Amino acid sequence: MNSWDRDKGIVYLVGAGPGDEGLITLKSLNCIRRSQVIVYDYLVNEKLLGYCPEECERIYAGKRAGEHTLSQEEINILLIKKAKEGKIVTRLKGGDPFVFGRGGEEALALVDAGVPFEIVPGVTAAVAASAYAGIPVTHRGLSSSLTLLTGHEDQSKKESTINWDKLATGTDTIVIYMGIKNLSEIVNRLKESGKPGNTPAALIRWGTLNRQQTLTSTLDTITEQAEKARLKPPAILIVGKVVELRKKLKWFDNRPLFGKKIVVTRTRSQASVLSAMLGELGAEVVEFPTIDILPLTDLTPLDEAIRHIEEFSWIVFTSVNGVDIFFKCLFDLGYDSRALHKVKIAVIGKATGKQLTEYGIKPDLIPEVFTSEGTVKAFRSISDNYSGKRILLPGSAISGDLLPEELTKMGAEVLRIPIYHNVIPEYSRERVASLLGVDSENGSPDLVTFTSSSTVRNFVEILEKTGFRRYVNSIRGASIGPVTSGAAEELGVRIAVEAAEQSIQGLVDSILSLFTNTTTYERKL
Ligand code: SAH
Repeated sequence: MNSWDRDKGIVYLVGAGPGDEGLITLKSLNCIRRSQVIVYDYLVNEKLLGYCPEECERIYAGKRAGEHTLSQEEINILLIKKAKEGKIVTRLKGGDPFVFGRGGEEALALVDAGVPFEIVPGVTAAVAASAYAGIPVTHRGLSSSLTLLTGHEDQSKKESTINWDKLATGTDTIVIYMGIKNLSEIVNRLKESGKPGNTPAALIRWGTLNRQQTLTSTLDTITEQAEKARLKPPAILIVGKVVELRKKLKWFDNRPLFGKKIVVTRTRSQASVLSAMLGELGAEVVEFPTIDILPLTDLTPLDEAIRHIEEFSWIVFTSVNGVDIFFKCLFDLGYDSRALHKVKIAVIGKATGKQLTEYGIKPDLIPEVFTSEGTVKAFRSISDNYSGKRILLPGSAISGDLLPEELTKMGAEVLRIPIYHNVIPEYSRERVASLLGVDSENGSPDLVTFTSSSTVRNFVEILEKTGFRRYVNSIRGASIGPVTSGAAEELGVRIAVEAAEQSIQGLVDSILSLFTNTTTYERKL
């Protein structure tokens, strides 16, 4: 960061990489983390915006083919204006900013305006998408030169500045960006200029993302194949003998869930583990949280209980959120985890237990079966008489009665304290249409995962509210256990697979077995 002129703003022209968020560079990420304004393009993975500070202003500049939300001139003016206000501005672009990214034009405008800037290169689509398709752009004996070309020259130019004759005969591998619209002209030009029609060629769409599509062919047939597959931008065309190597080097699309679109309906904060596991196995994961957790505004009953925590023999946590809210209150009151040294703690699931260890505490009790019934059984296995014991149950405002009732029957004095609400997030009709694949751009989901009865109920309610009730019957669900499956079937959601073990890992295993006939994936993740 420019320490020589801290008061003046600066613009970082940053490459966001080709799509897979893991392909961003550390330097790019550091720019995002410290920026006050981010101006980003259509091809930037929106997950990367999650790394900017909360107060950072996020401006979408568009640039999807045919849709120019801001013109290039307007973008230049915006960058200059924000920097002159003294802001740290990150101009985030797909791939590399200087490879068909108009980064040079933006840098020139900044120079003219006297605005300081730095350039942070990114992984460009040509090398990244090819690598994920198993195509090395150079290869000993097959290709010792690489040319990057645009298939979409400036419309105002009268004649092409691309020397097709020399290119077609003088370079081994050619990668063409933005070539879908003019695909047949490009292919014809290459052939007319001397590239044999049987030269291998591939089209890679949405390279490096789990929705990647790869089509291999030859110059003679690729146009027809692309039309048949209705392949749309963004895609690169790669022409050259190296394409043949894909037959042996294909790896990305070999993962067991590749090509499957799976919807994850957990809360935003809980979704990440399930999404990451499915994503690593190759699935195109769409997060569609059906529950938002809102801590209650008045938590005084919890504060009271914490102040008298030594009076309790047990605390039972039923969710990760419950654990987090509890400890936030505990810390806000000036205590730390040692305040719980005399209390025993039970958790209703592995994830809740893991969250507890984040606060330096090991759970004393985890039931074998992660349900209220399972928890009752686990308590009974320790003792069937809890008289004189107080049990604290901090949880959702809508939690079930079974656990407190059964513990009371065993003599315990149970104190239930609601600490959060579960609410249904609002969704637009367009968002639901794209989720269901009702629009032309997206495919319909192969599976929707449900991790509790409320995820199913809320999912159906969201579909109902947005006018898509009739799609409920065509959904194939994956459920975490019998209670969730029951709720789903009552609402008309077909459950295609149910987890053998009620946990996220169990759910993932069962999904694997549904699509692949195996429950384990040989490679260690
Ligand atoms: N600066 C970018 C390129 C921007 S031009 C870079 O360095 O990658 C936009 C074109 O890039 C798209 O039309 C497409 O041809 C290509 N492209 C970008 N991301 C891509 C991806 N993930 N898969 C395939 N092609 C991609």
